[in-house]
Order: sequence, then C-alpha cells, then structure tokens
Amino acid sequence: MVLKGLPAPLLASTGIDALTHAVEAYTCTAASPITDALAIKAISLIGKSLKIAVQEHTDDAVCDMMSASVIAGMAFGNSNVAAVHCMAEALGGFYDIPHGVANAMLLPVVSRYNVPGATKKYAEVAQALGVDITGLTEEEAAYKGIDYIETLCEELNIPKFSSVEKVNPKDFDFLAEAAEFKGPTKVNPVPVDKAKYIELFEEAYGIK
Ligand SMILES: [Zn+2]
Repeated sequence: MVLKGLPAPLLASTGIDALTHAVEAYTCTAASPITDALAIKAISLIGKSLKIAVQEHTDDAVCDMMSASVIAGMAFGNSNVAAVHCMAEALGGFYDIPHGVANAMLLPVVSRYNVPGATKKYAEVAQALGVDITGLTEEEAAYKGIDYIETLCEELNIPKFSSVEKVNPKDFDFLAEAAEFKGPTKVNPVPVDKAKYIELFEEAYGIK
C-alpha cells in the first residue's frame, strides 16, 4: 500500500490537507449535492481514521485515509477550495511551508470566520467528524467541530504558525494581496478581501 511507509508527520499534514479539501468543497458557494455527498464521506473517513493512521498506522486506517484523500479530491475538483487554500498557497510559496502544514495553521481561524455564511454545513462537518453535538444549536455544533479540528492538529503535532521562525508579520500585507488574487477567494462562504486576509493571517499567527 502506497501510504504504508509514509512517515507520521507527512501522513498527518497531508491528512489535514485532505480534510481542508473536503471542508472547503463542502462549505464554499460552488458546492452542489454531488460534491456534498463526496465531501461529507471524506470528512467522516478522516474523522474516523486520521488519528489512528498517524499514531498507530493500522492498515484499515491508512486505507481509509487513501480513500478519503481521493474522495476529497473528487469533491473539490468539482466544487472548489476557498480562503484557507488561497492563504496557504501564498504562505507555502513564500516561506516554503509544506502545503498541508500551512492548511492546518489556517483552517481553524478561517473556518470560524466562515461559520456565519455556512452554519448548517459546519455543524454537519462536526457531526461527520464524530463530534458529539447532542443538544447543541447549529452554531454551537459548528464551532465545536472547528475546536475539534484545532485540537486534532495539535494532537498530530503539526507545527503552529507562530513557531515558524522565518515568518515576519510585515509580510502579511503582500501575502494577503496574493491570497486575494487567487480564484477561490470568490467562492468563500463569507466575502473576504485583502484587509480581511491580513486580519486572518494575524489571528492565525496569534497577534490579534
Ligand atoms: Zn490542498
């Protein structure tokens, strides 16, 4: 199996990249019932198996992640990604941060910003991840799911944005400009522009 020999840190960050593909495909304005079906299946497989794949490397879990990655690719290939990828691509290109790591650094902050534009969808993401949302409102469930993703990234030992030494917050201005220029900006569930991208970079970096 191709993924069986993948070192844990790569399995972790590429797994979060697959999760980001699925979450953005599911919540962006380009989503359709067909891409929703694909995205939610990928999210449930990732919720069930990413941590086990990284920490225990069982055949079943690694196989689930292989499937989830392909299914998430089919989802965003027919829907789109959104602001997390616009920012992650700008970051990765400038600082040479691995793509999945950059996504993990941004996914919780951007998702919280996006909840008002896709509350029900984010609540469904939480449920698909296996988060207990019993008795919660849609909004509470949405934010609980995002908290779960943030904790998952920590448990998988993915580096935090603020720990990347070469990052200089003065760069956020042109990184935001690069992010705004990318196509998926237009399908983010909540409108986003250069000024908002700067704020999101600052928040993800922990200075706001
Ligand atoms: Zn990606």
